[in-house]
Amino acid sequence: MIPPIASRFVAGETAAAALDHARRTNEEGVKVILNLLGEHYDERAPADADTAAYERLIADIDGSGLDACVSVKPSQIGIDVSDAAFRENYHRIAEAGADHDVFVWCDMEDADTTDVTLDVFEEVAREYDGDVGQCVQANLKRTEEDLERLSDVPGKIRLVKGAYDEDPDISYKQKSRVNEKYEEYLEFLFEEYVGGIAVGSHDPKMIAAAEELAAEYDRAFEVQMLMGVREDAQRELAAEGREVWQYAPYGDKWMSYFYRRVRERKENLLFALRAVAGV
Ligand code: FAD
Repeated sequence: MIPPIASRFVAGETAAAALDHARRTNEEGVKVILNLLGEHYDERAPADADTAAYERLIADIDGSGLDACVSVKPSQIGIDVSDAAFRENYHRIAEAGADHDVFVWCDMEDADTTDVTLDVFEEVAREYDGDVGQCVQANLKRTEEDLERLSDVPGKIRLVKGAYDEDPDISYKQKSRVNEKYEEYLEFLFEEYVGGIAVGSHDPKMIAAAEELAAEYDRAFEVQMLMGVREDAQRELAAEGREVWQYAPYGDKWMSYFYRRVRERKENLLFALRAVAGV
């Protein structure tokens, strides 16, 4: 069982618990992106098993009446096994999404996987006419070219700052530089991108920049934040009429995800220590 300390960031161990979380979150006006925890499989069997789990989850979402979709990790569905395994599993999940009218997102992982992830995204997005979305990372120097390449690909793009510690040759290391690039890429998306725009950030400055661009270009966008992070802001933005999606992971592999959240921010560490100390 997930201890209360981790349940701030993780929606439960089972799909049923995750769907219950989605229902409660929907009641507060916030939509939910469900992610089954699991990554870096170097064998086909677990990648296929998680693909099948996503197919079942998508069918469950369809029958539930929930405002929910899914987000998958490339290394969870086979990218570390072979490009072909990843491509096949991505197609299976996208097909289930199209059959059940459930949107499918793909996360972006380390820079070694960017090429294949974008190739397969483009292929699937064209085949399923935009029923899939792709995350891109503002800290990567290549992102400017990637966005140009993706500008006429149907679907959605989630812009994030980037969570992976990449080589300085290929990435911006200074926070201020990443923020600058984030705003620059955001403007490119509002100006050029044919599909939907998702701001995957908790940063009030990036959300304010998107609000300004939305007014300037008369375009919509959605905000995506993680479960357990700025949930008050998620509810407030939704109450103001903004489309807000909460990324909620679930599953039995919650331990490493929880520690990642705790390590990345002092406030989260204090929260964890207070919970352990019972204060
Ligand atoms: P930061 O630069 O971390 O913080 C900026 C400001 O935001 C802070 O000063 C503060 O005002 C506010 N803030 C941030 N965190 C908190 C907090 N815990 N409590 C209160 N205020 C806070 N990365 C990838 O590489 N690949 C992915 O596929 C991916 N998917 C993501 C999906 C979603 C929905 C989200 C939200 C993030 C995703 N990320 C992904 C992670 C992302 O790249 C960043 O590492 C992460 O979001 C931190 O950057 P930030 O923009 O939220 O703001």
